[in-house]
Amino acid sequence: MNDIHHRLTQAADDEGVPLRTDFPDLLRRARADRRSHRTRVSLAAAATTAVVLAGGGFGLQALASSGGAAPDPAQAPSKSAAAEPRQGEPWVLPVDSYRITNTFGMEGGYYSSGFHAGLDFATSYGTPIKAITAGKITAVGYQGEAGNRIVLKLEDGTELRFHHLSAFEVEKGDRVRTGQVIGYVGSTGNSFGDHVHLEVRPDGRKPLDPVKVLAEHGVHVNAPKSRPPGRPEAPSGQTTDKAQWVRPVEGCRIGDTFGQRQDYYSSGYHTGLDFKCKYGKPIKAVTAGKVTAAGYKGAYGNRVVIQLKDGTELWFAHMSGFEVKKGDRVRAGQVIGYVGSTGNSVVPHLHLEVRPGGGDPVDPAHALAQHGVKVDLSD
Ligand SMILES: [Zn+2]
Ligand SMILES: [Zn+2]
Repeated sequence: MNDIHHRLTQAADDEGVPLRTDFPDLLRRARADRRSHRTRVSLAAAATTAVVLAGGGFGLQALASSGGAAPDPAQAPSKSAAAEPRQGEPWVLPVDSYRITNTFGMEGGYYSSGFHAGLDFATSYGTPIKAITAGKITAVGYQGEAGNRIVLKLEDGTELRFHHLSAFEVEKGDRVRTGQVIGYVGSTGNSFGDHVHLEVRPDGRKPLDPVKVLAEHGVHVNAPKSRPPGRPEAPSGQTTDKAQWVRPVEGCRIGDTFGQRQDYYSSGYHTGLDFKCKYGKPIKAVTAGKVTAAGYKGAYGNRVVIQLKDGTELWFAHMSGFEVKKGDRVRAGQVIGYVGSTGNSVVPHLHLEVRPGGGDPVDPAHALAQHGVKVDLSD
C-alpha cells in the first residue's frame, strides 16, 4: 500500500493513532463556522420576511390567510392588533415551490411502519425549509431512515418533524418563529430524491395527515387526493434503480481532485477525490456492496472499503466514526460513517477512491459520472 496521500509531515503524528487529539478544537471551530454562517442566513431570511420583525410575529396572520402573498402595507400590524390576545400562531408552508410526491397513509413495504407517516414535498436540493409555525426545536441531528431531521415542538405539545435535510440552521433548544429558515432540502436517510418529509404528531401520539392539519390553520397544500397503494414514486423523477450511484456526501465542496500532482503525496499524485465537508457529516454508500474493511489504516485514517459485485473497490477515508463493520452488506445511500480528519489529513474531508478489481485507482469523478452522479469540479 503505497498510496499515502496528503501532507507527509503529518504522517508520523497520525500514524497508528485512532483518534485525533485536536477533536474538541475541531468541533469548536466547526460550531463557530456554523454560527457565523447561520447569522448571515438568518439575516437574509429576516429581510425576506420583514413582516415577522415588523410585527413581532402577528403580521404573519395576514400572510398565512392570504396564501403566502406579501401583506398589504395597510394591513401592517398596529399597536392595537399587538395588544389583542393571541389567536394562535400563524402557519405557513415549509417550502415555497414543491410537488407533492408521496401523500400521508400510502402503503408500501418501503416504509418501516408499512405506511407513509408524513407528506413529501419534492423540490430542489438546498431549498430553504421554513418553520411552519412558531415553537421550540427539541431535536436536531441524524437519525437512521429520517436522515438529518428536525423536531419542532409547539406549545400544545404537537411535534412537527422535518426529514432528509441536507443541512441545519437551528440547534436543539432554539425557539423559532413562523417562517424562519430551519434548514435545507436534501436527500439524507431513506430517501430517493431531494425532498422534505413533513410529519405531524400531536403530543407524541400517532401521526396525522399534514394536509388536513395545515388546512385547519389556513394553509392549502396542492396535493393529489389519493394514490393507489404500492411502491411510492421517487421524488424529482430520480430512479430507484439499484445500479444508480448516489453522492457520498451532501452539501460539500470538491477539494483536491484525482491525479493532482503534489510532492506531499508519496505516490506523487492524488489517488482519489476530496469532498470538503463539515465534521460529522454522514457518509453514504455510493452503491450497494459488501464491506470488506472498516478500521484504521495508516494515512487513510478510519477507512471503509466497499466491494461491488464486479470486484470494484470503493474506499472512504479519514472518517470520524463508523456505522458499518466488516462483512456487512450495504445498499446505495446507506450511511456507513461520518466525515472526520483521521489519518493523514489536515481538515475534515472525505477522500473517495475507486479501484476497479481492487487494483490501481481511477478518477472517482469519472466513475461517478458514468453512473449518473455529476460532480462539479469547478468549485
Ligand atoms: Zn416521506
Ligand atoms: Zn484525498
